[in-house]
Amino acid sequence: MKIAIVGAGATGLAAAHELLKAGHAVTIFEAGQNPGGLAAGFKAPGWDWSLEKFYHHWFASDTDLLRLADEIGVRHRVIYNRPTTVVYYEGRFYPLDGALSTVLRGGQWVDRLPLSGSIARGLLALRYPGFNLIDVMRYGLAGAYLVLTSNWRRLEEVTAHDWLSRWMGRRVYGLLFQPLLYGKFAEYAEQVNMAWMWARIKARTPMLGTYIGGFQAFFDDLAAHLQQRGARLVYGARVESIEAENSAGEYRLTVRLTAQHNDQPSPANPQSFDRVLVTTSPRLMAKLAPQLPGDYLGALGQLKSLGAVVLIAALDRQLSRAGYYWHNLPKSAGFPFLALCEHTNFVPAHHFGGQHLVYCGDYLPVDHPYFSMSDEALRAAFLPALKRINPEFDASWVRQTWVFKEPYAQPVPFVNHSHNIPPAKTPLPGLFFASMSQVYPWDRGTNFAIRLGREVAAEMTGPA
Ligand SMILES: Cc1cc2nc3c(=O)[nH]c(=O)nc-3n(C[C@H](O)[C@H](O)[C@H](O)COP(=O)(O)OP(=O)(O)OC[C@H]3O[C@@H](n4cnc5c(N)ncnc54)[C@H](O)[C@@H]3O)c2cc1C
Repeated sequence: MKIAIVGAGATGLAAAHELLKAGHAVTIFEAGQNPGGLAAGFKAPGWDWSLEKFYHHWFASDTDLLRLADEIGVRHRVIYNRPTTVVYYEGRFYPLDGALSTVLRGGQWVDRLPLSGSIARGLLALRYPGFNLIDVMRYGLAGAYLVLTSNWRRLEEVTAHDWLSRWMGRRVYGLLFQPLLYGKFAEYAEQVNMAWMWARIKARTPMLGTYIGGFQAFFDDLAAHLQQRGARLVYGARVESIEAENSAGEYRLTVRLTAQHNDQPSPANPQSFDRVLVTTSPRLMAKLAPQLPGDYLGALGQLKSLGAVVLIAALDRQLSRAGYYWHNLPKSAGFPFLALCEHTNFVPAHHFGGQHLVYCGDYLPVDHPYFSMSDEALRAAFLPALKRINPEFDASWVRQTWVFKEPYAQPVPFVNHSHNIPPAKTPLPGLFFASMSQVYPWDRGTNFAIRLGREVAAEMTGPA
């Protein structure tokens, strides 16, 4: 079959990989100039690794990613490390997650014990001054239950706010989970279902992974592999509409690109295909294919999401004196963003010309002022907070900054969300849709995008 894929992110590329293996002719239209989508990176002069525009890491449990890396012969380039994640409490930062071997300062064999992650969390919780012994026990027991259970369908019937306050207690909820929910979901925080939180606790490991050269290098390698296998990857190709035509009982889909206004040779436009997979946001999908029936368009419209704003600062020295990687920041304590992530406490600074790279990131509704603020205004709003990570921080440490904004960054899963997800196979014969909003109950992530790409590819090659 002749198949088009809209988007060269993790979902589109993974689907292309499967479709090529099954012998189909695949064309990928990508609006940007490189593969990787939300996980793409950039390189400043003097860097030998690229840096993701939005902070990215993999988990040791990301089996779909590891399988794909194996299949394309780059598994040896996926590397893992154990950076420290900390939470804020009354002016200081405390580790609450980490590998058991670092908590016990013992051999790495302890990390292979069953529930080693939960044991490590329990031991760290004992040292956390925000909790008393009862808090630690509730946190440990409820946390262990979440790791052991697979029954997420029960958990999606209640909100994370209700479940966590009830089972972990108001204090544990208020100190650890409420800031995360408010930071990530803003006005929707108390409506997010418990299956979302379950999936985060279940699937995440203290070991974090990246790719030698950065995520962009992984997507470049994947794209090159697909091209060698015969895929046609067209960059700078923004799809503007997809129309279905029924000629003598045969459905064809016509993909039309926005006219190009540069010197690049234009691909044939429009082109027709037997199957089309769209991997953009639900909002854009509805715009591209207005022929979709009203109930499918309605389901797309019901999918809520938040955007992300990230400021990256290149510093001439390390920010976190303790070498912490990920800082969860409660906005209630006056931080202007949700997370501070010192990338070079995960990937050594020598890959970035000795610069120390710090992400300041937040998730927000797209009408939030951060989306319309100038880069200069965002710098003025965000950078003073670095003094709370290291009181010696001074603006003169900042060598360069970059700002990235993305309107579709974090899908919001409400109670009973599984009943409201539109199926990948749309009612228009041959047209498929796969996006971050559909990897549920898992939280969005490249691993789950790859899994979704694989699953949708299998579905696409069945009868229209
Ligand atoms: C702030 C942030 C942090 C994250 N952190 C992590 C992390 O630590 N680990 C992790 O694994 N994942 C992380 N993710 C999630 C991860 O980036 C996504 O789950 C994954 O990249 C989604 O891939 P996708 O292919 O579904 O979508 P996308 O990556 O969005 O790909 C869609 C592609 O479609 C293209 N496109 C859009 N419109 C058109 C059009 N009209 N025509 C042609 N092409 C078009 C886009 O340019 C894009 O390349 C993070 C995401 C964000 C926003």
